[in-house]
Amino acid sequence: MRMGKSMFAQLARASNMAVQSGTIVTNLRCVCSSSPSVNSEMIQCARCRFIQHSVCIGESRKLVPYECPRCLLARLDPLMFVDPTRENAVRAGPTLIPTFEASFASQPVGVQICILSFSAGGEFMDPRGKHRLHVRCIRLDGKSAEHCWPLMGQLILNGRVVETFQVPKDVHGHKRKDVPHFLKPDELRHGPNQLVVQRTRTLAGLSEPQRQALRVDEQGVYVVAVVDAESLTSEELIRKVAETCRPTVEESKRKFMQRVSRQYQAANSDEDCLCEEPALEVPFADPYLPGTMMQIPAYGNTCKHIQDFDLARFIRMNEHMRQWKCPHCSERAYELEVDTYLEQLFKEIKRAGIEPEKITIDKAGVLTVNGRYVANYKDGMFSLVNQEQRKLAFGPRRRQGGAHESYREPKAGTCQSPVPPPVLASAAAAFPAPRGGQG
Ligand SMILES: [Zn+2]
Ligand SMILES: [Zn+2]
Ligand SMILES: [Zn+2]
Repeated sequence: MRMGKSMFAQLARASNMAVQSGTIVTNLRCVCSSSPSVNSEMIQCARCRFIQHSVCIGESRKLVPYECPRCLLARLDPLMFVDPTRENAVRAGPTLIPTFEASFASQPVGVQICILSFSAGGEFMDPRGKHRLHVRCIRLDGKSAEHCWPLMGQLILNGRVVETFQVPKDVHGHKRKDVPHFLKPDELRHGPNQLVVQRTRTLAGLSEPQRQALRVDEQGVYVVAVVDAESLTSEELIRKVAETCRPTVEESKRKFMQRVSRQYQAANSDEDCLCEEPALEVPFADPYLPGTMMQIPAYGNTCKHIQDFDLARFIRMNEHMRQWKCPHCSERAYELEVDTYLEQLFKEIKRAGIEPEKITIDKAGVLTVNGRYVANYKDGMFSLVNQEQRKLAFGPRRRQGGAHESYREPKAGTCQSPVPPPVLASAAAAFPAPRGGQG
């Protein structure tokens, strides 16, 4: 990419990148398939680093960080895994289904189409094959990326209607649940195939509420793509995330503490009153199964809270629902990560034979279990120290030492006292902790 110095002055907008008009870009990959020479404002995808025309991506430019339509389309369903490095993994439409520039009032009727040409064969034609072709569609509304078909329209594969989309009868009732369309091997042809995505606009026979809903919903830019996805079973995905989306405990701690401080800031903007602030509660129970401790605590990479969910249960639940909504913030948790920091703490609690009732974290990051056990963290491992027994152990010394004793009450967060943790020390010796915390 050729970029002048003056151009960098324009790059300040969030993580997005504007490219001056007339700039020659070599990494342009836009849904419009236009030539690399551009005459409009450009924006760069934070994920794949390809560049798009701002005018082509609807409201997506509002996303922070900005992600291009292909990247959004690729990660819509973790159980239908799309490997972006695989050639032609996402065959996004040669054009967008064009925006409705005019309002429905002035242009009430019309059909807009998008044609996708692709070739099929090999494993796509095997009904038991792992790789499947399916059609995904998103609306570039600048909010969360979720699968969304046009309100009215059809999918026509090789001249045959394979799917019809209709306006829900009760527009104020439940939202229509849109799911990707699987291209079945018997619908496909060996060799070239053609998919027409048709969007229909007609106001005939629609009630006033439906018209209003249409005006709201049918604005916007849609992108359709034929996607080469690898179908995973929930057990395969659980294993994959548990093994590969597992930061080191140290890295996980850093991220956890970021979420903690964000939550403290949200709870109380007054930074000065450190002491009076109640400690945050760290939930350890599976949100889907209250009373049960999470086995593998995990969260979505867009989650900003400290609450986790159990990885296996979240994936198994979504095997049928395919919503991927975080139970705490309702954001789409398409990309999951194991909270190895809390996982390590939970392991230690179990190993110590403690029945957890309440886990808290104070502003300094000190974790306390049941108001009694302070969780000391060092080099990826936790050890639990019973504060009450420690106080008892110190008690007599203080009385004997009188006014000359320099002992001070141990403060939470500074538990570097040489006094060995009573009770739990023997448990630790009997069951040595796994090394490295990566198990
Ligand atoms: Zn474009
Ligand atoms: Zn991208
Ligand atoms: Zn969340």
